[in-house]
Amino acid sequence: MTNRSADIQTVIIGGGVIGLAIAAECANAGQETYVLERHDAIGQEVSSRSSEVIHAGVYYPRQSLKARMCVEGKHLLYDYARRRSVPVRQLGKLVVATSAAEAGALDAIAAKAKANGVDDIRVLEKDDIHALEPDVAAVKALFSPSTGIIDSHGLMCALENDLIECGGSVALETNVSKVSRGPNDLFEIEMTSGGETTKVTACNLYAAAGLGMADIGPLLPRVGPYVPPTLHFAKGHYFALRGTARFEHLVYPVPVEGGLGTHLTLDMQGGVRFGPDVQWVDRIDHAFDERTGLRLAEFERSIRRYWPGLPDNALTPGYVGIRPKISRQGEPAQDFAIHGPRTHGIPHLVALYGIESPGLTSSLAIARHCVALSREH
Ligand SMILES: Cc1cc2nc3c(=O)[nH]c(=O)nc-3n(C[C@H](O)[C@H](O)[C@H](O)COP(=O)(O)OP(=O)(O)OC[C@H]3O[C@@H](n4cnc5c(N)ncnc54)[C@H](O)[C@@H]3O)c2cc1C
Repeated sequence: MTNRSADIQTVIIGGGVIGLAIAAECANAGQETYVLERHDAIGQEVSSRSSEVIHAGVYYPRQSLKARMCVEGKHLLYDYARRRSVPVRQLGKLVVATSAAEAGALDAIAAKAKANGVDDIRVLEKDDIHALEPDVAAVKALFSPSTGIIDSHGLMCALENDLIECGGSVALETNVSKVSRGPNDLFEIEMTSGGETTKVTACNLYAAAGLGMADIGPLLPRVGPYVPPTLHFAKGHYFALRGTARFEHLVYPVPVEGGLGTHLTLDMQGGVRFGPDVQWVDRIDHAFDERTGLRLAEFERSIRRYWPGLPDNALTPGYVGIRPKISRQGEPAQDFAIHGPRTHGIPHLVALYGIESPGLTSSLAIARHCVALSREH
């Protein structure tokens, strides 16, 4: 769209992987683009506290945004990472059943995968599992060869570089406090930076503030009966394994309510970590809550179901991530909520809620989707 005397053509609130991917997409399309980020560096919240897994797209309901964005995003992400030298490894993943009851759950996952167009899933029996991962104990498993890991910070830096090369930039330590609709249908964005409050106007606005959408969402302009989703928070703790272990693939149990189960992932350096668990919380707080050893005991119990050889005292507290959820504890999982003009009635505004996993995998597909939504009438 033309610049209707705005200070900036396109503003994105939030310098996580989603905001940066949208920014790169807009800037590549020739738009003058700025990202406003409240921290002193990009990607300090949800995006730097994930499992860094490129998901295949096996868990999500058919035709859901999560399924569509994940499957499309996975291909885009592998391609982008290889072109831009972002560290990525397509390791493959086992989803393991440790009992006959869990084996039934695998059938449901395999059916969802097929419905989502993920057609490379293989069923593994005990011997096949042993051949791939000798230390894993399971009665049956699914093998997903397209699952992998990515250096999420490397990805965000590459996206920021794309933005900068196209003339855009990220304004750090800039907290957005108010958004309103001004003359000429421009957005008036109030922000605080270095103790000073200033205002800019923009033609297009994308609100990709992750956990911050709990505060930003209600501030965004809207018309009619539309009410933005309410956010709920589910904390996930990770433990790291001391020393080394001989795992070559990612190992996931069958999913649990609120998350994918205490899985084993590898990082780019070959380090092993376990998590995240699910703890519903009322406020955002990234402190690791040990619960005087209870959490450690729960982790050890869950891990030993599929890795009985986990040694005692091998786990050390790692980091914490918080999932921005639009379902409450006990409610069915919700889809990503990416709201464009047809939903909230405001042209050129896109607001993103509940961008939990597989948001990293989906980031490049979400960016394309958002830019298309922004053009809706
Ligand atoms: C425990 C956990 C594990 C996960 N594992 C995976 C995985 O393995 N694979 C996968 O695909 N996905 C995974 N995800 C999901 C993925 O990490 C997220 O979907 C993705 O990182 C969300 O990015 P974002 O940009 O929306 O949020 P964020 O990275 O949180 O970015 C939002 C930004 O907005 C900024 N902000 C907020 N309010 C304001 C304001 N008022 N003014 C200015 N800036 C503001 C914040 O500072 C932040 O930097 C996981 C998530 C969690 C929590």
